[in-house]
Amino acid sequence: MKTYQEKRHFDKTPEPPWRDDQDKGQHRFVVQKHQAAHLHYDFRLEIGGVLQSWAVPKGPPLKPGVRRLAIKVEDHPVDYIDFAGEIPQGEYGAGSVEIWDKGEFDLKRESTDIVEFSLRGKKLSGSYALIHTADKNWLFIRRKEV
Ligand code: MN
Repeated sequence: MKTYQEKRHFDKTPEPPWRDDQDKGQHRFVVQKHQAAHLHYDFRLEIGGVLQSWAVPKGPPLKPGVRRLAIKVEDHPVDYIDFAGEIPQGEYGAGSVEIWDKGEFDLKRESTDIVEFSLRGKKLSGSYALIHTADKNWLFIRRKEV
């Protein structure tokens, strides 16, 4: 919460401020295409009333067996799931944000080093895993369906 709030000026950015009073039982996800200094895709999973978030430089893997680097970033408030718009120049993450995909997921396993889930979105669907490798680096893997 603190990190998210500290990085942003809510009198300047249209992004939603942190709220604690969230339903903790929902499992939704969003992928936001973020044209900042470098284009990347922000992948967010709603777990325990926050959006656990990763920046994925090359975008989420679409085909089974494909793995992509994902960099863990600060938890975002659940309200961020609907955010699209323009973050002004000079603000953290300046650039445009559009919703690239959105849906629900089934959480299969969650620990500090691995999150396994099954996505039900329009572009992304099927079995996925995020695996911690080192520091902020994770691997985002599209599983082969069995
Ligand atoms: Mn971003």
